Amino acid sequence: MRDHERTSTKLQKFRPSLTLELKRLVGERVARGLPVHDFGLGETKGDLAVPISEAGQRAFREGLTMYGDPAGIPELRDAVLDWLDLRDSYGVEHVVVTAGAKQSLFNVFLAVCNPADCVLFDAAPWVSYQPLAVAAYAFPIMVLPASGPEAHLLKVSAADLRRNLELRPHARLFLLNNPCNPTGQLYTAEEVEALLRVCVEHRVFFVLDRLYWRVLFEGRVYPEPRLDQETLPWVIMVDGMSKNFRRAGGLRIGWSVAPADVAGAMANLQSHYTAGPAVPVQHAAHAALTQPYDDGMCRELERKRDLLHAHAAGVPHVRIWPTPATFYSFWDVTECFGRRTPDGAVLRNSDDVATYLIQRAGTVTASGTGFLQDGFLRLSFATPDQEIIDGMQAAREALEALE
Ligand code: PLP
Repeated sequence: MRDHERTSTKLQKFRPSLTLELKRLVGERVARGLPVHDFGLGETKGDLAVPISEAGQRAFREGLTMYGDPAGIPELRDAVLDWLDLRDSYGVEHVVVTAGAKQSLFNVFLAVCNPADCVLFDAAPWVSYQPLAVAAYAFPIMVLPASGPEAHLLKVSAADLRRNLELRPHARLFLLNNPCNPTGQLYTAEEVEALLRVCVEHRVFFVLDRLYWRVLFEGRVYPEPRLDQETLPWVIMVDGMSKNFRRAGGLRIGWSVAPADVAGAMANLQSHYTAGPAVPVQHAAHAALTQPYDDGMCRELERKRDLLHAHAAGVPHVRIWPTPATFYSFWDVTECFGRRTPDGAVLRNSDDVATYLIQRAGTVTASGTGFLQDGFLRLSFATPDQEIIDGMQAAREALEALE
């Protein structure tokens, strides 16, 4: 057996998660004493709320460490219904708790796709959609928006989706990330309804990754999808702890809400491969969902967004626009392409720009290529104020130095 045959051909093509790679890179630079202004990984910071950590500790102390229900402890699944205000349309049997939203997404692909079925993503798919779909033997397709004055927002319209579905009879689902990582854009209620309608017409699942649904700015209200007899068989929602609570990514708790047949298939699958996430952490998540939601983190992120925009004003060779949600800014950096760095290298794509900014300025961003969008950089502003200020200053100087 030759070395390259020791792992599956499918996995040989995988690269590590771009964003987790950035976390490693930042750690390395810090250890070497190099400057770092970290806009890389999208991770909430601050302190985990006391009731959440106490509930987790209590669960350990009380010995709640035996196997639980593979679909999640019933009290957490029940709390999810209130958290998403879904009690009128769903029961506990529709909720499956997973090790982060990632596993919910993987469950969805595994539960509804046969090999080579198409899964359609919006125009800047989050880094793990494609690998997860491929690992489930599905065939990922990105729906591109038609050109127009708003094309830079990378929002897919109902017409874009319909065009793609008509070309692909084997499509099983359309996955919409609303609000969207990496673009920071929010589809309106009308846009969501139009996309949902197309999915129902074509009898494909409308999978809504709503992981950032609380992180909305300027008093916006989350555009919930219509739930009625017509849509309920086709709607699958994915959500979790990682982005709506402080310092919660490492808890590794997510959940899906799906029609009973799909939820049942996912619970069955999960009973074989994880038997559900760690029970004490599910108790911690239960405490989080049953507290009144503290939106202090979201207001702080809104302020940081404004701080970033104020300090990014006038940075040369980039185009920036307002973001109504999430903690990302998605910059158009195509104007940097073809320019020469002081070392004589020519910047040819987003990877080159991101690498240049790290090496010259210590400003860490995520290249758009990780989201299949060369020409952009994603900046996470869930980072300390001083890092935002210094990082923008350093980026400005580095970009001013381009020929
Ligand atoms: N979906 C989106 C859009 C994300 O940004 C992420 C994490 O960054 C995930 C899903 C996965 O979330 P989790 O950390 O809960 O697995």
